[in-house]
Amino acid sequence: MIIDLDDIKEQGLSLELMEAFDHFPALNELQADGEVVFLQPLDIRLMARKFEGMVIVEGSVATVVRLQCCRCLQEFEQPLDATFSITYARQLPAMEEGGDGAEVELQADDLGMLAFEGDEIDLTETVQEQVVMAMPFKPLCREDCQGLCSQCGADLNDGDCGCRDQAMDGKFAALKDFKVKKTD
Ligand SMILES: [Zn+2]
Ligand SMILES: [Zn+2]
Repeated sequence: MIIDLDDIKEQGLSLELMEAFDHFPALNELQADGEVVFLQPLDIRLMARKFEGMVIVEGSVATVVRLQCCRCLQEFEQPLDATFSITYARQLPAMEEGGDGAEVELQADDLGMLAFEGDEIDLTETVQEQVVMAMPFKPLCREDCQGLCSQCGADLNDGDCGCRDQAMDGKFAALKDFKVKKTD
């Protein structure tokens, strides 16, 4: 996932590629931890342009993953799709301690850009970050997943298990506790 600056011509550099998830250390780690299973390679489309000494990379990354629902614990497939626009600025040489400290420390990061050095830009970090951010923090097999019965553990998506009355009591008890906490 490295772009050679010399390959970015006047009209920009357009790339379309399929990359295996295990080329990305952070994604590899997520799968190794059992958080996700990548079912398809990453479909990456990019356009890189030079602008005023900076490089602007716009693109998208898409894949399909298998996740576990946080309510009912069933596994389900989910497409992930992220679009991004990142500006890379050349890393400024480390400056000497100057009179105006604030200005000296204004680096690419502070301006919402990423820094690059030399004649290449490595997009590995950017692409894997987009995929991680596209993943739901609390995966749900469907918006209205009913989850598991807190009493008997039955999957409530399969129908009512009959513990409903007790579960309602539980809900009211929780609500009472919540009100007590809220007042102090
Ligand atoms: Zn679910
Ligand atoms: Zn039940």
